[in-house]
Amino acid sequence: MYCKIWGVRGSLPVPGASTLRYGGNTTCIEVNGHDDECIILDAGTGIFPLGQHLVRTEIKKIHLFITHTHWDHIQGFTMFQPLFSDDVEIHIYGPKDPTSGLTIKDHLTNQMDRHFFPVQLQNVAARLIFEDVSGGDRIQINSLIVKTFEFNHTAINIGYRIDSENRSIIFTGDHEWKLNPHSSDDPRFSNMEQSMRAIRQETINFIKGVDLLIIDSAYTEEEYLTRHGWGHGTLDSSITAAREACAKQVLFTHHDPSRTDDELDKVFRESLERNAINSKDPEFALAKEGMEIKL
Ligand SMILES: [Zn+2]
Ligand SMILES: [Zn+2]
Repeated sequence: MYCKIWGVRGSLPVPGASTLRYGGNTTCIEVNGHDDECIILDAGTGIFPLGQHLVRTEIKKIHLFITHTHWDHIQGFTMFQPLFSDDVEIHIYGPKDPTSGLTIKDHLTNQMDRHFFPVQLQNVAARLIFEDVSGGDRIQINSLIVKTFEFNHTAINIGYRIDSENRSIIFTGDHEWKLNPHSSDDPRFSNMEQSMRAIRQETINFIKGVDLLIIDSAYTEEEYLTRHGWGHGTLDSSITAAREACAKQVLFTHHDPSRTDDELDKVFRESLERNAINSKDPEFALAKEGMEIKL
């Protein structure tokens, strides 16, 4: 498999001189299989340059997997060039909201309502095929197998694991390790603690032994103190989880938009030092636009 990173920021695109090295686009990852299968994970603004690239290739079938519909994960969809090619087929997968019942098709249609965008989804040239996904699904695309898992976030968020020829990639989408909302003297504390341990174990089991883990690590420990429940992980929580799951290579992503490249380097270095990273640990790096990984 081949993986290329096209967008690494959380929340908001931040172009400019201070984000040139890691990139200013929001989440988008491309994964290709050996038969040129084209999988895209999320449609943040990074999907715009990816789309410009794809229309210059022979690829006519695209599989777009959306983790969830927060803006930074669908913001680039409207300007995804292959939408406007009549010889392209795009399969779009995403979660259906269990509360509102809204599907991925509903959300993307609403995003292109005439109040927000001049071209409506029903009028694009490409052939679109929508599929709702939920945790525990398995989708086969030629030799690639995509498995789904619901990672804890403020909205329903589906993470994807792609397997091919004994190699694997996982992208969590946005994810916060669940916290116990009760204090330890609350009678509900211990039941909640038990159920949270079970959820954590299920999450670790899904990640177990993965070759490449791309994980939401938006915050530092200090920032997280005032951001409980905002739906994101920390650099340290990602290190702990990657160690526990024996991941081989780890990319921290969903970089906070307020962080410059130099600040990113600094918080990354501090986190590695604090956690005493050694040669037995997974290989850790910050996700960077343009980064290519062959597995
Ligand atoms: Zn996000
Ligand atoms: Zn989100």
